Amino acid sequence: MKMEKLLIRNASQVVTCSGFAAKKGKEMSDVGVIEDGAVAIMDGRIIHVGTTREVLSVINEDEYSVIDATGKALLPGFVDSHTHFVFAGYREEEFSWRLRGDSYMSIMERGGGIVNTMKATRESSFRNLRDRGYDRLLDMMKMGVTTVEGKSGYGLDLNTELMQLEVMKELDKAVPIDVVTTFLGAHAIPPEYKGKSGNYIDYIIAEVLPVVAEEKLATFCDVFCEKGVFSVEQSERLLRAAEMFGMKPKLHADEIVSLGGAELAAKLNATSADHLLQASDEGIRRLAESNTVATLLPLTAFSLHEPYARGREMIDAGCAVALASDLNPGSCFSCSIPMLIALACIYMKLTPEEAVTALTINGAAAVGRADTIGSLDVGKKADMILLRYPSYKFLPYHIGMNIVEKTIKNGKTYHP
Ligand SMILES: [Zn+2]
Repeated sequence: MKMEKLLIRNASQVVTCSGFAAKKGKEMSDVGVIEDGAVAIMDGRIIHVGTTREVLSVINEDEYSVIDATGKALLPGFVDSHTHFVFAGYREEEFSWRLRGDSYMSIMERGGGIVNTMKATRESSFRNLRDRGYDRLLDMMKMGVTTVEGKSGYGLDLNTELMQLEVMKELDKAVPIDVVTTFLGAHAIPPEYKGKSGNYIDYIIAEVLPVVAEEKLATFCDVFCEKGVFSVEQSERLLRAAEMFGMKPKLHADEIVSLGGAELAAKLNATSADHLLQASDEGIRRLAESNTVATLLPLTAFSLHEPYARGREMIDAGCAVALASDLNPGSCFSCSIPMLIALACIYMKLTPEEAVTALTINGAAAVGRADTIGSLDVGKKADMILLRYPSYKFLPYHIGMNIVEKTIKNGKTYHP
């Protein structure tokens, strides 16, 4: 069989983000720029990275399809490591209530919020969930996302949670983008368990986790650790049980109040702790000492008009920070990578370099895949993006604009 070979040459910048693990603190500033760079790809894998001269000296260019990237920057594909992209129904009414000044929690207490989407998702067909999810993944690919994490959590019962995860498994095959699945059965307390959050956790551990594990539907288990939802103790109990079933822990931590979610994530050596708007100084210190990635979601803070997570301080304290969209139908109906980067740089005071690291190698670490994606290193998947401009610095600078000209997934080019 003929090998598929692709050469991208004369890129004004090849931004490698080189590495095989999350970058912490100051390491996040090093994005590894090669000027007049080239990348050679064979059968979907990176086989050479260097200056155009170096790469041309070790390959026979005639064997390759060639992309001339003069005046353009080449980066690793983006990893959106926190989304809820499989759901049914929309909550545009609630959005207008929020604009009027109602709080997220007060809307939840009125039966809105996650339970609203739960009802629509329970009533939805597999096909409807899949088709809507498919469209959202294509939108993401246009903005340079090559791997996405998706969570269940809108079923809050066995059958619908399984259906959401199965939809993601099918989309992983149907769409070039890679989908990493997370079981988030503990996203909210379903109406059947109102006032009985402990019993609901018991139910998930006894009835749902074993089936999710048996059918190999999720890599991670996540929990909404929040006042009035699931306590630190309940979260710990669930995540420890999930680990027994082979699912690694993730947490929605310290989003609305400072509850100790960051501390719990560090204690459990969770793959990531996400949101962290209200993370305490101690929580940030513990994260910095741990291998847990601090995943920040500035589009949600923007959408809810909440203060942003302390991204600058977290990096200065030595944390590994990732950025993700949090796409969901309630608190953040957006997966706009351009806007995410702008918010992270302008309001959380990340540098352009840190934002790039946060969306590539650190995003990959936040889904446990830093060994195979997230950087332009030999042996990794050829997941990359070509920008219309000569420098990665245009990403925050060209505010809110999609400057991705091509998304390259497993060595194949999309959106030419
Ligand atoms: Zn979330």
